[in-house]
Parts: sequence; structure tokens; C-alpha cells
Amino acid sequence: MGGGYATTEELVDAVARRLAAAGRRLTEHRRRVVGALAETPGPRTVAELTDALGDAIPLSSLYRALAVLVEAGVVERLHEHDGVARYELSEVLVGHHHHLVCRRCGRVVDVAAGGDLDAAIDRLARRLGRRRGFRVRGHHIDFVGECERCPR
Ligand SMILES: [Zn+2]
Ligand SMILES: [Zn+2]
Repeated sequence: MGGGYATTEELVDAVARRLAAAGRRLTEHRRRVVGALAETPGPRTVAELTDALGDAIPLSSLYRALAVLVEAGVVERLHEHDGVARYELSEVLVGHHHHLVCRRCGRVVDVAAGGDLDAAIDRLARRLGRRRGFRVRGHHIDFVGECERCPR
């Protein structure tokens, strides 16, 4: 987990606080979904989450839990690269990172740039923003290519 929380309990506490701030409770289903997302870093499809959760949660409940978690800012729904939605814990929970997107198999992997590289990316983003009179406050970057499992 690229970021903030040393243990799953700390993460779950932080999730519960965010849900409470949004007027929601950390139900058993929501806790299980957060646990499944925390288990493996990186964006996951609903199919992958279903595999991880087994029969613990009916599909309709999984979709409802994800919708509430997204609304509360706990989970981010990523724009689809291959027409398949992916979900991951939000950066406020797991820390700032970028995504490596395989254009062959669609796999999306987290990668944290680290201090120096992120500072360089921020400088670049601010320069690009200034061209349009835009004040850049952050960035989300997808790097596109072929992953190590796919032919180059
Ligand atoms: Zn990610
Ligand atoms: Zn691939």
C-alpha cells in the first residue's frame, strides 16, 4: 500500500471516519469491500473483486457498497481504458501514485514516483497549466504501454 496506514485496522478506522463524515456507516459489506481493495494495491474490476470476496457479497450489494464508498470519497472509480470500470482506495488513504496501463491486456498497476520524480512532474504540470492560464493543484497520470506479461 503506497501510503498512509501501517495496518488494515488503521485503514479501516480512517474509512469509518470518512463514511461517518458523509453520514454513512461502515457496514459489514462495505468493510469487506475495503478489505478486498486493501489486500492488493492497484485498481480492481468488479469481476476481480467478486473473485476476492467469494460468495460473501451478492453482486447487487457489491455495486451498492462501491457506489456508497465512491460517494464518500473512500474509493475512486477510474475512467475505463478498455471499457471496464476499475475501483481503488482513494489517494487520501493509500498515498499519491500513478498508473501503468497495459494496452494489450488492460491490466493497471500502481506506481509511486517518489519525491524527486513527483516534484519534476509537478513542475512540468504547472508549466503546461500556465500556457492556458490554469493553476495546477495536482495530477493523475496514466502511463500506457505493454506490461511484463504481454508481447512487446
Ligand atoms: Zn491506483
Ligand atoms: Zn499486459
